[in-house]
Amino acid sequence: MPSTPRNKSFYFVRPPWLVRRLYPGAIWRVKGSSKEIFLTFDDGPDPVSTLPLLDLLDQSEAKATFFVVGEKARQFPELVKEILARGHAVGSHGMRHLNGRQASIQNYLEDAAMAAKLLESEFGITWKGFRPPFGKMTFSQFRALKKVYEVVMWDLMPGDFESHLEIEKLQNRLALARAGSVVVLHDSPAAWAQNQQVLSAFMVRLQSQGMSFAKLPYHIEFD
Ligand SMILES: [Zn+2]
Repeated sequence: MPSTPRNKSFYFVRPPWLVRRLYPGAIWRVKGSSKEIFLTFDDGPDPVSTLPLLDLLDQSEAKATFFVVGEKARQFPELVKEILARGHAVGSHGMRHLNGRQASIQNYLEDAAMAAKLLESEFGITWKGFRPPFGKMTFSQFRALKKVYEVVMWDLMPGDFESHLEIEKLQNRLALARAGSVVVLHDSPAAWAQNQQVLSAFMVRLQSQGMSFAKLPYHIEFD
């Protein structure tokens, strides 16, 4: 369940200014961060990809943010606990990974509320970070979400969900990460097949340039 439609569907690797302006108050890039990059992983937890991904992040002493699907969190609670135990942040990717454009505002908000309730009651997560599945939501859904959630979009979507994307292309897209970038990646078997080939080298290179990999929400960590 990628954050954007599969295969030939169009998506922005880096969302343009105009698109960002359509959702005022959403987080696209973390302001005030001069040295951190914010990796985010959507669609987990997953029994195949989550643990190896956590090991990879540990090896690089990187922290990240996992936007989990509520139904999967309920199915694999031990994986969510492991993500938290390793010091990462967990936000919501909705209960059932709804496409906002195909859901009524009431259904969409109920789904988001159900996931938030599960994350708090089962895992003690009080941060209201929300990543819209497929990156798709109507403006009215966004306005309503904003009252309750911190809506986290992205500065960079390298396309790790594209199973036929050339590794070199994925590397080149990752290289566009800059200070404060929120990077969308995926915690899924298909994305892991790609990410395990590129993420370590990417992190080592950025760290050698003085960058580090931090989790959201940024302001709470530095209060
Ligand atoms: Zn997704």
